[in-house]
Amino acid sequence: MSSLSTEKKTTGIDCKNYINGQYKDAVSSKIFENINPATEEVLGTVAEGSKEDVDLAVKAARRALNGRWKTMPLAERSKIIRRIGDIILERQEELANLEALDTGKPVSLANKIDIPRAAYNFHFFADYMTTLGTEAYQQDDQALHYALRKPVGVIGMINPWNLPLLLLTWKLAPCLAAGNTAVMKPAEWTPMTATVLAEICTEAGVPDGVVNLVHGFGPGSAGEAISQHEDVDAITFTGETSTGTAIMKSAADTLKKLSYELGGKNPNIIFADSNLDEVVETTIKSSFINQGEVCLCGSRIYVERPAYDEFLEKFVAKTKELKVGDPFADDTNVGAMVSKAHYEKVLSYMAIAKEDGGTILTGGKKAEGFAKGFFLEPTIVVGLDRQARCVREEIFGPIVTVIPFDLEDEVVAQVNDTHYGLSASIWTNDLRRTHRVADAIEAGIIWVNTWFLRDLRTPFGGMKQSGIGREGGLHSFEFYSELKNVTIKL
Ligand code: NAD
Repeated sequence: MSSLSTEKKTTGIDCKNYINGQYKDAVSSKIFENINPATEEVLGTVAEGSKEDVDLAVKAARRALNGRWKTMPLAERSKIIRRIGDIILERQEELANLEALDTGKPVSLANKIDIPRAAYNFHFFADYMTTLGTEAYQQDDQALHYALRKPVGVIGMINPWNLPLLLLTWKLAPCLAAGNTAVMKPAEWTPMTATVLAEICTEAGVPDGVVNLVHGFGPGSAGEAISQHEDVDAITFTGETSTGTAIMKSAADTLKKLSYELGGKNPNIIFADSNLDEVVETTIKSSFINQGEVCLCGSRIYVERPAYDEFLEKFVAKTKELKVGDPFADDTNVGAMVSKAHYEKVLSYMAIAKEDGGTILTGGKKAEGFAKGFFLEPTIVVGLDRQARCVREEIFGPIVTVIPFDLEDEVVAQVNDTHYGLSASIWTNDLRRTHRVADAIEAGIIWVNTWFLRDLRTPFGGMKQSGIGREGGLHSFEFYSELKNVTIKL
């Protein structure tokens, strides 16, 4: 039996709401337990926020919008936002440990990606905000028109559990850069790093009330209360497509501005002329990093027939080398699934793959050797047709399907046969084909001969039911600000 050293590294924290610069219990005094997915032990308690707590947070955010935050010089606001990033780096070890405890991800991954990127989100937008201008037009000798950029107001942020701090800061940094105030709700399964972030914001100099945090659940709880609140001006949501539908309905009565980053069923398209060793190395990451719990993971792998056997042989061999286990062990590649419910959902798809006629080449079950914790084996399935549920539905776990193809048109048609359109990876050395296929695929993010390579200035987001709007650079400011046009008659 493997012994998990998880709880020895650090302990969890109790998570309270954070309203107007102070930690607070829920108005109802209700709490719920936060479970470590690697040990099934209790990490701490979480304040169960509801409508009343959201109302207090929104009131604080509204007051702060018209306080010192409004008149603060741009350079000072930029400096505070930069300082948040600095403190995240100063507290990196603590934050990485909390993220690994909460999500079950390897702490090495949290240290390499989640926490540095969370800091960089603040550093990037602290710089970017100082470069922005707006439009001006002279209309002959009649008039001068110019646009002013204004904050939208109070922004509600509803977040998922897979990259908790990284994705929350991807929203909070541009929100603050554009002069808004925030009411954040982390996912109920991963409340810890958001709780620390609230305090970090105050330490960096963010005025009280600008950043507020309410914990809780979605329907009938804090999430729904944020989407219904009449004094929340906009909602930025990252999560499942079906939750996006529910939020849109709740937000309809008060006509909120919405930004959505939703689910995906992303394809990797591997042509036979690509360098298969390079392809396999990256495909291991795009399939199993963060236990496959990344919205950008490539879960449908299409391989041109001449390369199919060689790819599979290499891909299966490398997958078998991955070590599943203790998030705090140095040699762990794949940690625990985030919760019992999600673990059971992903496990059920391993059975569905077989029922639908698929063959499991490796994995397909609970990882052995763990008395406790939600560990699954990285899984490769072949032999499924395009109608199979594992090929069509977002599973969000360490399970991928591999399918051969013969013709470019045929693979493009299969790839586009989904209501998702988040990202795609194309592997080829043929320049003309690169342009043709990149143009034909219905997805917001296309990678060629790479995966997950990001520049925060570029537009990020999904087509079809994978999202609404784009984030990154100027695109983030388009969501987090309102343009006001002024016309002066000359
Ligand atoms: P989820 O939709 O279950 O939950 C996300 C958040 O919404 C949580 O905070 C939850 O409490 C809240 N919520 C749930 N129901 C609600 C309701 N009715 N009203 C208001 N709030 C509600 O998503 P998840 O399981 O936490 O995250 C996984 C999903 O997120 C996957 O589908 C994944 O693809 C997607 N995701 C997308 C991106 C992207 O950039 N496109 C990034 C990460 C994750």
